[in-house]
Amino acid sequence: MTMRASTDEAAGQAASPSPSPAASLRQRAVRLLRTAELSWLGITLAVALACNGALLYLATSERQQALDNTGQTLALAAQIILRRSESVLDRYDRTLSGIGEVIAQRQGLRPGSDLELHRLLVRRHGITPGLRWIFVVRPDGSLAEGSITFPALKLNLAEREYVTAHLHNWDEGLYIGAPVVPLRGGAAFIPLSRRITDDGWGMLGVAAAGLEVETFRYLLDDQGLPHGYAVTLFRADGSALACLPLAQPCRNMEPSRFRPSRDAAPDPGAVVQLHHRLLGDNRGLGAYKQSATYPITVAVDVPESVALSAWHARVRLYGVMMVGGNLLVLFLAFSLLRQSQRRRRAVEQLAQANLRLEERVAIRTRELQVSEARMRTLFDTASDGMVVIDAGDCIVDLNPAAERMFGHKLADARGRDISLLIPDEAALRHARFIAERDGGEVEGLLREHTARRADGSAFPIEVTVGSAEVDDLQLHFCIVRDITVRKTLEAELNRLANTDALTGILNRRAFIAQGERLSALARRHGRQMALMAVDADRFKSINDTHGHPAGDAVLRALARAVESALRATDLFGRLGGEEFAVLLPETSPEGAAEVGERLLEAVRKCGVPWEGSELRFTVSLGLTILEADDRNFDSLLQRADQALYRAKRDGRDRLVLA
Ligand code: GH3
Ligand code: MG
Ligand code: MG
Repeated sequence: MTMRASTDEAAGQAASPSPSPAASLRQRAVRLLRTAELSWLGITLAVALACNGALLYLATSERQQALDNTGQTLALAAQIILRRSESVLDRYDRTLSGIGEVIAQRQGLRPGSDLELHRLLVRRHGITPGLRWIFVVRPDGSLAEGSITFPALKLNLAEREYVTAHLHNWDEGLYIGAPVVPLRGGAAFIPLSRRITDDGWGMLGVAAAGLEVETFRYLLDDQGLPHGYAVTLFRADGSALACLPLAQPCRNMEPSRFRPSRDAAPDPGAVVQLHHRLLGDNRGLGAYKQSATYPITVAVDVPESVALSAWHARVRLYGVMMVGGNLLVLFLAFSLLRQSQRRRRAVEQLAQANLRLEERVAIRTRELQVSEARMRTLFDTASDGMVVIDAGDCIVDLNPAAERMFGHKLADARGRDISLLIPDEAALRHARFIAERDGGEVEGLLREHTARRADGSAFPIEVTVGSAEVDDLQLHFCIVRDITVRKTLEAELNRLANTDALTGILNRRAFIAQGERLSALARRHGRQMALMAVDADRFKSINDTHGHPAGDAVLRALARAVESALRATDLFGRLGGEEFAVLLPETSPEGAAEVGERLLEAVRKCGVPWEGSELRFTVSLGLTILEADDRNFDSLLQRADQALYRAKRDGRDRLVLA
């Protein structure tokens, strides 16, 4: 009951296992994977946002950079164009000034036609490119001389702006007029004029020239500004002198637009950069610069679309990169998420499988515990001894029955060689038994053996050996049964079966069996052997006279007397009634005869006390010797009987040799 209770308890413990460290580790792994998935998503979104932000920042800063660069280009262009325009005007200013100086040296204009002046004008006209004509006008406005005709046409130019400007203003410098389209047709020109003064600043007249508009247009065109840029050269009153692109008509400008308070130049002659266009209506950038020398202004501008065209191309690339990058990041995030989910599912499935496995292991452990408890109970309570030995034939375990059987305690016997339990005289047989066991010949078979107790005494045992591999160890399980009682009974039965009950010597069956064996041996080895038939003389009369018990006593005394005269190696048996036989191995005929005589004498001397008297008796002996042609033991017996018959016939109490 105690054993059963403890087994159930052990099984109960195994059936409800607490979560193993491996299981909780797996649960942690699943939680970590979930957290990792969320982290991945967060990181991916953060990376995408950061990349998008970086691209946006890059695009914005590059846009600003492009605008800044364009602004600088515009400012530089305005500066260069203005300087070149000024140098062009310088050239014409010098031409007109030179004419004025010549006239001043000549003390003014001569009345009437002046061929010399005309030639001067023609010469100057010839060496100064871009001029349509050169005039010299008198202070009253009449044309003094010109470079085209001689004598000069009678023209009054007093109403012309380029003349009146000098009449009323003594320090006009170089006057630049608005472009004029001739009434007779032809290309437009720009009138230029300069006041001619004497040394006392007295007015001597006006030198004027018609400058072809194309001169400025070529100058603007020469700057090689990129396509889309617009340039206009303005007069101080805002009228356009020349402009690019050529395909568009030049537009005049309100002069106040060059001086807005916000874009006001910090100092005269500096470039003013604008955040809007001057020459166009759409969005863009502009710059202008006013000449400090001449009343002219150069304005340059560009539409935003042109300024940002290169940037727009890059922005498209950035857009493609951004979309592509976002798609890539999304794809990567999705792939990683799926991969992580798959891994998590695999871990969860593995956890489930492990849980099932652990349950099965727990059930199996419980079964094993129950089985082990049963086996242990069987081992401990078996009446047969059980000895467990290892591959090296050392004792591993003894059950209580074996301890009692061999007289050894397990604690003392453990680790010692199995020869501890085997007597020395059985060592050879034991070695053979071990060899047979290792050859698998005795596996499961019942074998008899001899064992030794702790006190040194030997006893017979019956052994069954089974072998098994336990935890990589080869073990032999020997079930040992003490068969001393059975062996004793067997020996007694054997003795009874072969012994004559009255005399204690061999009975007929045992004598004939052993006689056959010894005669066969003697024949095979060519040794001598003798057989004597022994018969009590007139025994019937003893029975008849003294009774059957007296006959029995005589028979016992006869057996003792014969026995006393024989060697230990001789065979003596009772064949029936009062007939006996003696077999003498390795005995010559003479020797046998001597033995016979000794027997006769021993019997003669033997007396059996019976009812106050002593019973005396004799025997007759028929002797025969083993011959080469004896086929069996029976023929020997027959010859001995025949010799015995003759001994009876010859008077009894004698030996007759066949
Ligand atoms: P012989 O000298 O010719 O041998 O004469 P005998 O009387 O000995 O021979 P016989 O065969 O005539 O008699 C044998 C007798 O032995 C007969 C039988 O009653 C007796 N007898 C046989 N077995 C036993 C026995 O076990 N005990 C006793 N008391 N007598 C036995
Ligand atoms: Mg007889
Ligand atoms: Mg007889």
